[in-house]
Amino acid sequence: MIVILKSDIDSNGPEYKHIMDHLGNKPGIQPRVHREIGTLQTVTEIYLIGNTATLDKAEIESLPGVDRVVRVSEEYRILGRHRDDRRPTGFEYNGVRFDQDNLNIFAGLCAVDTPEHVEQMLRALKEHGQVCTRMGAYKPRTNPYAFQGHGKSCLPWVFELAGKYGIKVIAMEITHDSQVEEIRQALERTGRATGVMLQIGTRNTQNFELLKIVGRQREFPVLFKRGFGITLEESLNAAEYLASEGNRHIVFGLRGMKSNLGAPHRNFVDFAHVPVVKRLTRMPVCIDPSHSVGSRDRAPDGLLDIFHVTAQGVIAGANMILVDFHPAPTKALVDGPQALTLEELPRFLDDVAIAREAYEKRRALARR
Ligand code: PEP
Ligand code: MN
Repeated sequence: MIVILKSDIDSNGPEYKHIMDHLGNKPGIQPRVHREIGTLQTVTEIYLIGNTATLDKAEIESLPGVDRVVRVSEEYRILGRHRDDRRPTGFEYNGVRFDQDNLNIFAGLCAVDTPEHVEQMLRALKEHGQVCTRMGAYKPRTNPYAFQGHGKSCLPWVFELAGKYGIKVIAMEITHDSQVEEIRQALERTGRATGVMLQIGTRNTQNFELLKIVGRQREFPVLFKRGFGITLEESLNAAEYLASEGNRHIVFGLRGMKSNLGAPHRNFVDFAHVPVVKRLTRMPVCIDPSHSVGSRDRAPDGLLDIFHVTAQGVIAGANMILVDFHPAPTKALVDGPQALTLEELPRFLDDVAIAREAYEKRRALARR
């Protein structure tokens, strides 16, 4: 059960104290407070943990200072959608809004290699009005002898260049919790030139200890990728680990499933789950067409498979696109075969805009 307090409640005032005492006195019930500080208002929610079946919703709702009470009927207590749950979706980070209604594009390098390539990428993004990107510094590789990413040594110049080109958010995978501090320090040293969305890769979807630590910090939002070999339910439960520790600024990423049935694609494209994740939870949903398709194969109609699956995700309501580009894919140190080129960027953006417009029309039609 979630008790949502009135937005103007004073957490040092008598109303708040009375509510907390009242709830704290219920036998077998443990209240847990979550405060979400937004630009317009602060939302205070009290999660009642324990056997809440016998609690009287109306009685709690009648307490002064309580706005409403939501009975948690489903899984994913914090991230899920519940009956009579009118809580908003999404969040804002570094001036960029992430929610279930809008769309952000994160085109960029799978792995940071040279300052020249990073700068060419960022310049192209700025030329096309983009304020988000992806840049991998810590790469989880299948082969231990493969390039593992430049790690913390590249962070200062990557962040500086990002600031120079007006990038507000960089999606960056972390593979160990110590990297959060490395990112924080590098951002600090560059005068917070940009922002970072921490990416949890598919290989770490169920690394619960990592999730708990990342969930305990609330400075950076998280792009959480679905596990490539587990059920959707298991992945959503894993995302709940982040939220249960306090961080709810989470985007859920679909990136294809490991299955030979997906061949010749690298993974079986799972973008049919975009509306499913939006129905089950309040998380914005990202699609990663690059890691799903894994190649630059082209259909007879002239469109790359990556363009086709991107459009399929966007027309189904995706809220974020994570996509690999590279100024010189043959020189890329990671995932060159699936990278789009900078010349393809404007066409990609135009193609996405067509699919988005179609989605918006479909949504309007459904609401009529
Ligand atoms: C990536 O985005 O670079 C990546 C490694 O993705 P995934 O975790 O989905 O394989
Ligand atoms: Mn990659």
